Amino acid sequence: MKKLTNLGETMKVPQFMPYVDMTEWEAVKGCFEDNWITEGPKSKEFNKKLCDIIGCKYGVFANNGTLALYLGLRAIGVGPGDEVIVPDFTFIASANAIEMTGATPVFCDVGDDLQISIEDCKKLVSRKTKAIMPVHIYGFAANMDEVMSFAKQNNLLVIEDAAQALGIKWNGKGCGSFGDVATFSFFADKTITTAEGGFVCTDDEEIYEKLLYLRNQGRINRGTFVHPEIGYNFRITDIQAAIGLRQLEKFDEIVSKKVKNYNLYRELLSGVKGVQTIEPRKEVSPFIPFRVVLRVTDEKSSDGLMKYMKENGIETRTFFYPLHKQPCFEKLIRAQKYKFWRTYSKCSKSLDSYNTGVCLPSYAALREEQIRHVCQTIKNYMRDKDV
Ligand SMILES: *Cc1c(COP(=O)(O)O)cnc(C)c1O
Repeated sequence: MKKLTNLGETMKVPQFMPYVDMTEWEAVKGCFEDNWITEGPKSKEFNKKLCDIIGCKYGVFANNGTLALYLGLRAIGVGPGDEVIVPDFTFIASANAIEMTGATPVFCDVGDDLQISIEDCKKLVSRKTKAIMPVHIYGFAANMDEVMSFAKQNNLLVIEDAAQALGIKWNGKGCGSFGDVATFSFFADKTITTAEGGFVCTDDEEIYEKLLYLRNQGRINRGTFVHPEIGYNFRITDIQAAIGLRQLEKFDEIVSKKVKNYNLYRELLSGVKGVQTIEPRKEVSPFIPFRVVLRVTDEKSSDGLMKYMKENGIETRTFFYPLHKQPCFEKLIRAQKYKFWRTYSKCSKSLDSYNTGVCLPSYAALREEQIRHVCQTIKNYMRDKDV
């Protein structure tokens, strides 16, 4: 049953499109005109602007959000033998970065708003726990008041995974400005993009210095071959920074379009039987929707709904697959390397969210008629199901 047509075809609604056009291309061209392509003046300017948005003192770039997390973890001293508490409900990179340092990720459950559950963390903290990694998911923010007081009580370091949270605030303070370190990603589907790219920020001068050493071969100044520390290469290019600067000029436009889309979705879906949009807590302001997320209240129908939407030209995504169910981590759990969730946390909210959740198309360039098509399709499916 294909209803809404566009020039004889089903209207196509992709899951995501980056908000880029020829002006980013012009910015890239500028790097070639200036003959400066490696990390340089544009990176410096982009760095400063990001720090201003986040509300932090220092920042360094990394090649992507995953390596930004790795760099941040290393800079606060996380390594073999340590445990880091991370939500079970997140993109797998959060946990993989912990594994990459040689430390062990310990999976905790999330709350109704899909953010880290401190109640659950209380059951998981051990002598080995060195840090906690709240992840700001889907454009909502983790409850950073709770996270920070829990960390303080248990003497833990805090690394915020703010890959999805540029510009979002919790209780008036920027996501990424709470933890000892915080990281961002500029992959194509994040709020702003540099194609690939990452950022680590901190207010702590010592951590900042460690970040500088780690990211540039154990030296602070370029052009010297004396290396006081062991370090690596996490540099980016001015080509990426030029794209990032152009994206920042569009930041307000991107945010207002995303908010407008979200509000239209919410309006059109309110009262539709069997689906619920998930709302951020009132402390999250500004809220910048990363994904418009739905819960299907009948467990069996989220797969059915996604299949039906696909037949109608709409690309959806499931929610994040629970980390403790990931084949790669399940092996380690079976081998008793990661045993914590079994003993203490059932991560039931994470599991339940995966089983019932659907991510709707939610990029800035989405047109009103596309959103109407998506919502009408959902209504049709939910109604058909009732008959
Ligand atoms: C995208 C993302 C990452 C990883 O960033 P990349 O740039 O893709 O490496 C990490 N954590 C979360 C929550 C993300 O959304």
